[in-house]
Amino acid sequence: GMPRVVVVGGGAGGATAARYIAKDSDGAIDVTLIEPTRTYFTCFFSNLYLGGFKEIDDLGHTYGTLASDYGVNVVHDWAIGVDRDAKTVALAGGGRVPYDKLILSPGIDFVDGSVPGWDLSSQNAMPHAYKGGSQTELLKAQVMAMPEGGTFAMIAPPNPYRCPPGPYERISMVAYWLSQNNPTAKILVSDPKDKFSKQGLFEEGWQKYYGGMIERIGPDFGAENTSVDVAAMTIDIDGSVENVDVCNVIPAMKAGRIAELAGVTDGNWAPVNPDDMSSKVDPDIYVLGDASEQGDMPKSGFSANSQAKVCANAIRGALTDSRVFPAKFSNTCWSLISENDGVKVGANYEPADGKISSTGGFVSQKGEDAALRKATYEESEGWYAGITADMFG
Ligand code: FAD
Repeated sequence: GMPRVVVVGGGAGGATAARYIAKDSDGAIDVTLIEPTRTYFTCFFSNLYLGGFKEIDDLGHTYGTLASDYGVNVVHDWAIGVDRDAKTVALAGGGRVPYDKLILSPGIDFVDGSVPGWDLSSQNAMPHAYKGGSQTELLKAQVMAMPEGGTFAMIAPPNPYRCPPGPYERISMVAYWLSQNNPTAKILVSDPKDKFSKQGLFEEGWQKYYGGMIERIGPDFGAENTSVDVAAMTIDIDGSVENVDVCNVIPAMKAGRIAELAGVTDGNWAPVNPDDMSSKVDPDIYVLGDASEQGDMPKSGFSANSQAKVCANAIRGALTDSRVFPAKFSNTCWSLISENDGVKVGANYEPADGKISSTGGFVSQKGEDAALRKATYEESEGWYAGITADMFG
């Protein structure tokens, strides 16, 4: 019969892969996409929503066009297991979906116990807002409800995690909103990392726009020893306890649980081959995006989308003998520091030494003029429109 591809997760990696395989195979491959949510809210640009530059509806995307225009069989359910011998995926709603090739792009889950005092049952009192949608809305509502002169705290995650500049863009956007609406408020960041993505650019911007508002405590001052008390709304950084009004806990991350259930993880992530994103333990399973351990690419939507296109091309080649091109990948991560002040970092990649390896990159410079920063921000708007069209049609 017709070869079958099943894709688990309809995000940056999975939606792109499903669309490209269906589109480019012209009906020769049967594509099923398993995704529980009917509207996917992007994490990308969610910080701009916190800053007041986007509405929540700007971030929501649905799967109807994948079904109607590309023939993807969209199943709104959770995958709860993978039988690698029978080559089937079990669904929470019952039943099993058979595959010849399986793509897993489930994003992230959190490492239990990474921030003492916090677990998933605390995510309403102390949101992570590191998965899109309701968590992002909750965090924004909490920022808007802060008392005058109150404190917003963030516990930043250890490496590796999704979107390396994400926490720092979030600090910028929360600072922007507070500077307009609650200018005596404070932002306290506990960060277990010595340094972070685009640090010089962010620190220059924080000084320029939000002087005195943001305090970041790093490992030199005991940030690795941070815990929270959810009931008391306090954060304890190496024995120094602070009352806070909002506490954004971003725990350590690991591959979405279905990758572990499928048995393709080694530790927290799923190792893959750099030529086609196939799992190192099962040639018929491919892992895309944040869940994969692939080498040098940061965990980003841009990366997941880029990996999905390489994977889709390789799977079509394996199933229908279509032409396979050498793998090439790219990524750019834009961040907004203040209104019209955008910065970026990016690179190109190719397989080398058994992993995806950088072939060279670029980063915005300190002190760039306002016109260039505005152009960089506008470029990010174009990228958002492009990637969401690439995912959802
Ligand atoms: P996701 O896009 O998270 O998709 C995973 C999907 O799998 C989800 O829809 C989920 O519902 C589904 N799923 C999970 N488990 C199952 C299961 N068992 N069965 C069925 N479905 C399942 N990236 C950028 O490129 N640029 C940015 O500017 C940017 N900004 C960001 C800002 C923030 C605050 C955050 C948190 C992230 C940002 N990112 C950005 C990162 C980006 O969101 C992720 O890297 C990207 O979404 C990863 O794609 P993915 O396919 O691996 O996972």
